[in-house]
Formats: sequence, C-alpha cells, structure tokens
Amino acid sequence: MKASAIIVAAGSGTRLGFEVPKAFVDLAGRSLLSYSLRTIAAVAAIEEAVIALPAGMDSRARADIRAAGLEIPVKLTQGGAERQDSVRIALELTSSEAELVVVHDAARPFATPTMFEAALASAARSGGAIVAAPLADTLKRVDIDDDDGAGDRAHARIIVATVARAGLWQAQTPQAFRRDLLIRAHRRAVLEGIAATDDAHLVELLGAKVEIVEGSALNFKITTAADLHLAELAVTSHLKP
Ligand code: C5P
Repeated sequence: MKASAIIVAAGSGTRLGFEVPKAFVDLAGRSLLSYSLRTIAAVAAIEEAVIALPAGMDSRARADIRAAGLEIPVKLTQGGAERQDSVRIALELTSSEAELVVVHDAARPFATPTMFEAALASAARSGGAIVAAPLADTLKRVDIDDDDGAGDRAHARIIVATVARAGLWQAQTPQAFRRDLLIRAHRRAVLEGIAATDDAHLVELLGAKVEIVEGSALNFKITTAADLHLAELAVTSHLKP
C-alpha cells in the first residue's frame, strides 16, 4: 500500500459560533468535511483513510463518505483533546502496509488533489513534506500596554518589534511523511511532553528533513465566521487555488 490519509475533524469549532462541530458546518450545501473527502477520493495513491471525529458524529460522517464517492476502506475514530492527540490516535489505526501517511485538517476545504500528490511525492523522496504558503504581510510582535490608563477598558496593543519576513512560510495541510517517521515523532512527543500545532514540528524535532511544497492562499483554514463567509464566496464564485 502506498499511502494512508488521516483527516482530523474532531475540533469543536467554538470560534465559529455554531452548535454543530466545525467539520459538519454547512459550506454551500454540504459539510466542510465532505470537501476533503472528495479531494482524497481523487488521489490514486491514497488507499485508505482514517478520520478523527467528535463523539457521536459517525453516522453523519458515513453519509458524507458515501456522498463523496470515497471507495477506499475508511476507519472512523473519536479524536482526542488536542489536534495532536487526534492525529496520534488516527495514526495508530493506519495500516502497517502504508509507506506514507498524509495528514489533513478538515478545516481546510480547498486543498487540491495536486497538493496531496505533490506532498506525497516529496515525502517519498525526503521523508516529509508539507504544503505551505510564503508570507505576504509584514509581521509585528505585539505586547499589551499595562500602563496606558485604560482602567476597565481593553489595554492598547503596542508594537515591540518587526519580525523579518524573508524565509518565513505559513504551514498548511496536507502534510505527508514516511509512516515510520511520523510514528516515531508522535511517540517521542508523548514521552517528552512536547505539544505542537502541526505534525511537521514533531518530525523536525527528530532532526529529520521536511520539504516545503508551495500551496495557495486559498488553502486557508476556517476558524472564524469571517473565514466561513470567505469560503462561501470562494465556492459560489468558482475560485480555484
Ligand atoms: O482548531 P483548529 O482549527 O486549529 O483545528 C485544526 C484541525 O484539527 C481541524 O480540522 C479540527 O477538526 C482538528 N482537530 C481535531 N481534534 C482536536 C482539535 C482539532 O481533530 N482536538
């Protein structure tokens, strides 16, 4: 087997302000999760999928899997407290026959099959590869001004430094790795109490090489209601990453 896909979809999405978990929020007539399911269905190298879900969402997910025409074996599991826990739990369920594992956030509906294929091809060569986009904005480090006399009002935010942007990229998903490498990275994180917001970070900490594959600003993560609104506009205007 070439590759297993892990889709992490177990987040609550409280910042979106919906009752339903984020992966099942409606985006132009179907769930956020269904976009990623359709995308992986179009990637020939992916021969199995493991999806980390919030409790009680299995039947909704099964319906989305059917609707997406995903014909590979799919395992469903309940996610963990943090994203990293959800990936680790799903990783343990991937087939030992998979050479590569590609991890993707359900919260990024606009990743393309080409992004998955490029990440998998680079990971097959160098061990790990992530989709990322170069930074376009100037970065400011900011501190809270406690002495601004604001009283009960919010304190002012003051720039304390401008961070050089050259060489900085925004990490997205999909992120692909040799399966044995990713398992080692997650096991070490548990042993040493390391918390990371993406999988590449854990692999980097092993001293292994992780390549960058250039993504797109359209592969953004849906976090807030404004992101969801932008995503609706992208779908209805047929924007392509
Ligand atoms: O919360 P955030 O948007 O950063 O989450 C990124 C991805 O990780 C989302 O697709 C979310 O569903 C998933 N996640 C998870 N388990 C958690 C937290 C987040 O699968 N405990």
